[in-house]
Amino acid sequence: MQDFLQQTLSGEAPRKRSGETAHLRWQWLYHGILLMEPTVQVKQALVLSAGIHGNETAPVEILNQVINPLLRGEKPLQQRMLVILGNPSALRTGKRYVRYDINRLFGGRWQQIDDGDEARRVLRLEQTLETFWQVGECDETRWHLDMHTAIRGSYHPRFGVMPHNERPWPSEFLDWLAAAGLEALVFHRSPGGTFTHFSCEHFGAASCTLELGKALPFGANDLTQFSATQQALAALLYGDALPPATSTPRHYRVAQQITRLSEHFQLHMSPETLNFTAFPQGTLLAEDGETRYYVQQAREYVLFPNPNVAAGLRAGLMLIEEGEQTQALPI
Ligand SMILES: [Zn+2]
Repeated sequence: MQDFLQQTLSGEAPRKRSGETAHLRWQWLYHGILLMEPTVQVKQALVLSAGIHGNETAPVEILNQVINPLLRGEKPLQQRMLVILGNPSALRTGKRYVRYDINRLFGGRWQQIDDGDEARRVLRLEQTLETFWQVGECDETRWHLDMHTAIRGSYHPRFGVMPHNERPWPSEFLDWLAAAGLEALVFHRSPGGTFTHFSCEHFGAASCTLELGKALPFGANDLTQFSATQQALAALLYGDALPPATSTPRHYRVAQQITRLSEHFQLHMSPETLNFTAFPQGTLLAEDGETRYYVQQAREYVLFPNPNVAAGLRAGLMLIEEGEQTQALPI
């Protein structure tokens, strides 16, 4: 295969569906799904995904850049690895999704929507991951890195969103995220329909949704701002030295979710509001008929504000920073 991204965008199956280099065997499993296995036995398994949202092109370009040297036989591979471009039909049209946001549909939630390409795609990804993790040794390390870009600008241009997890996060995983240049980590406290939540809940994988910059068309990305992320991926995949972390990521956790309930929903933030903008206690954030959302803690930070979602879906998250005072201040 010449180029995994071009192959996926073409919508055609490759003429040659498997091959090998001196270091690895690869197998094209389906559109946007590539299995790569080192010729030597390893104890690490990694799912590396991007393009779950079709307009988030920088991570797709990064993913392609790190796997091409492997396909050309120039680099060894240290992981049993599944490489995924999540939503090929959305990637082809440059849209976030065609009909449904697939990053809300994992964990069987696709059964609640009409049967169509996106429901079937989520089922296929779920089944592919299940097979991938099942064939591994039981003491294999399982990681899943799902790379995205945010719709908005952000006070932290690179950050990670961690799914709800009862177990402690492995320190090697947190160290890798710091080395990848993430400035902040956001910890969910309830289950969700994301790809990384699925890997963590069902297969015990250490997983993170990486948010790398702002969504731009193919070719318009300045990948230099993600050089630490690319170097950290090279370390993970090829066994290069892990770059030193330049700072410790700040830790936030979700305090409350703003949900769009009806067509009366109003979000009291401008379209330019950046991710991690702070709001003081008592601020009216949104309203929907009788329901009003206020800042409850001394200070809360907004993440992913988006009023243009379907009723019943998340229109924003409010965060508190770990270690900051979380009690309500006296009025
Ligand atoms: Zn995304």
